[in-house]
Amino acid sequence: MRKTEDAYFLKGLRKQLVKQLKEKGISDIKVLEAIDTIPRHYFLDPAFNKIAYEDRAFPIDANQTISQPYTVAFQTELLKIKKGDKVLEIGTGSMYQTAILASLGAKVFTIERQKALFDQTYQFEQVFGDQFPDVQFFYGDGFEGLPNLAPFDKIIITAAAPNVPVPLWDQLKVRGIMVIPVDESETVQRMLRLTKKKDGMAKRESFDEFSFVPMLQGKSQG
Ligand code: SAH
Repeated sequence: MRKTEDAYFLKGLRKQLVKQLKEKGISDIKVLEAIDTIPRHYFLDPAFNKIAYEDRAFPIDANQTISQPYTVAFQTELLKIKKGDKVLEIGTGSMYQTAILASLGAKVFTIERQKALFDQTYQFEQVFGDQFPDVQFFYGDGFEGLPNLAPFDKIIITAAAPNVPVPLWDQLKVRGIMVIPVDESETVQRMLRLTKKKDGMAKRESFDEFSFVPMLQGKSQG
């Protein structure tokens, strides 16, 4: 990512995107404001400035993707972020979702398994360090989470999970919320919101189908 001019026409495209997201059913004003505030074109190559405000996923380095804005808004809305929430994100990717969470006042702990993507995370500090000092990046396997920094108020998985990883569930606070797309087939995931009850069991809510890149085991050096 890099900071480039946030030209007037890009701000305009962003407003259009917010309007589209509203039409598609995103209703949380704070989430819409976050989308309006964070320049998504910072997270893509400058050649793609205009495309950055189309509501679609886009390839980034290491064969990964920046999630579709609707997906980011949808997952963020389900998380019900409150200022100061400790949030664990699995799948840093482009850092766009990370920035949206931070702009809602979350303390974000985000894990990426692709070394090439993790190596770009210093750029976040350059661009957003002053604005969002409470973001920490980790190179590791998201299936393991961050046991030393647990428990978390919220956990968001931004890759297609084969199941709900037990270590992550254990790192969620009671009354905490996990938003996770779980495989229904090889290509489609069901978005779930799991709220941890006092007895450690989950209240399970099921939403639409989405399509994510897979959550993979271990770390990649490539
Ligand atoms: N939140 C990102 C979405 C990127 S796509 C964004 O807004 O751009 C999903 C990301 O999850 C990819 O970068 C992929 O490398 C990463 N990922 C997949 N499996 C993982 C794992 N086990 N641990 C950490 N990251 C993982």
